[in-house]
Amino acid sequence: MGKSSDRCSFCGRARNEAEILIAGINANICDECVEQAQLILKEEHSIKKPDKFKDFKVLKPFEIKKYLDQYVIGQEESKKILSVAVYNHYKRINQKTFKPGSKDDVEIEKSNVIIVGETGTGKTLLARTIARMLHVPFAIADATILTEAGYVGEDVESILSRLLQSSDYNVTAAEKGIVFIDEIDKIARKSDNPSITRDVSGEGVQQALLKLLEGSIVNVPPQGGRKHPEQKMIQINTENILFIAGGAFDGIEKIIASRMKTNVIGYSSNKEQNQLDKNNMMQYVAPPDLKKFGLIPEIVGRLPVVTFLSPLDEAILKRILTEPKNALTRQFTRLFEMDHIQLTFSDDALDFIVEKSVEFKLGARGLRSILEAILNDAMFELPSKKTIKDLHITSEYAIKKLQKNNLSRLKVA
Ligand code: ADP
Repeated sequence: MGKSSDRCSFCGRARNEAEILIAGINANICDECVEQAQLILKEEHSIKKPDKFKDFKVLKPFEIKKYLDQYVIGQEESKKILSVAVYNHYKRINQKTFKPGSKDDVEIEKSNVIIVGETGTGKTLLARTIARMLHVPFAIADATILTEAGYVGEDVESILSRLLQSSDYNVTAAEKGIVFIDEIDKIARKSDNPSITRDVSGEGVQQALLKLLEGSIVNVPPQGGRKHPEQKMIQINTENILFIAGGAFDGIEKIIASRMKTNVIGYSSNKEQNQLDKNNMMQYVAPPDLKKFGLIPEIVGRLPVVTFLSPLDEAILKRILTEPKNALTRQFTRLFEMDHIQLTFSDDALDFIVEKSVEFKLGARGLRSILEAILNDAMFELPSKKTIKDLHITSEYAIKKLQKNNLSRLKVA
């Protein structure tokens, strides 16, 4: 037996049995015991942590929208609808505990949201910005990785594992968080929509999701993935979690158009139909269209707030480059500033970046890759050149750098 100074004072493991043995004044601790202790602390903290959302101050819809305006360009209608939905949601949370039969017996139902819009139009950005504003835990889940129990994939409860992780295992906080479920359209029922070719029936996943959306107590595996019998579960009540679902719903315009056509014919003349903006039918999206697309009626019922995001045109893309609080051009300007270089862009350079992003069908997501490609040389060279104090990006400079960087690789097939 070795000296006691060569052993972990907690588990007795010898130095050669432990990966790391940390020496204290009169004691040692091994790496495994440190990890164990950390877990205990985490659990204790999550139990004792004061609920910082207890005195949550609800912002008025107008203030919520003003906050969103700082980060999300355009999409005015959607921002208004979301502001009201979030306001009502948190009013509902702050409402005194509902007691059936009491004077205050109006039970306000949850206002989960569904956002319909092409990829890259800002669905995630909106959900993320709302969560940041409210200081609540936020998790993004991709509906395509979810499968029914028994299939390869993740259980729907794993969505809540992410929320739990993002709240640092503070259950109380997680129970007031926001979950963004992306690509909800990909779990549409096949029978209603033959174009979708998923093997594992989307309907089963929708049924499982329903349980979360409805508001119930769910057993959540803390680390996510598949549940297994020996695993310790954490119970989460989803009653006050705001679910925001998003999806591109490719082809839904046709469903909307046919519904509107029948409706209009059912009414009076063709007058109303003539007023329709046929280039953007998405703006008329309504719950029956989602049903027809293949979402089960119960899911549609649990996502009562329906809104849409318009495709981004060139004017909006240009504003996205410069206007948001953390606009891309501002981010790069700050990066250069750290090397005492003033970065500026000419207006036609910005136009060129937008043009390329549209040409490559990259939408707002492409703006960043294009800017990176244009600025990469400068970001590599200038920090070592003490004499250069400013860099002005013109369209000529941008064209030259993009050509050099083999711009075609950015193109979407
Ligand atoms: P989606 O979830 O709809 O696919 P995202 O929210 O992930 O799209 O947006 C993709 C990128 O484009 C993000 O980096 C976001 O910053 C930017 N973006 C998209 N729409 C807007 C907008 N309206 N205002 C500002 N930035 C936007």
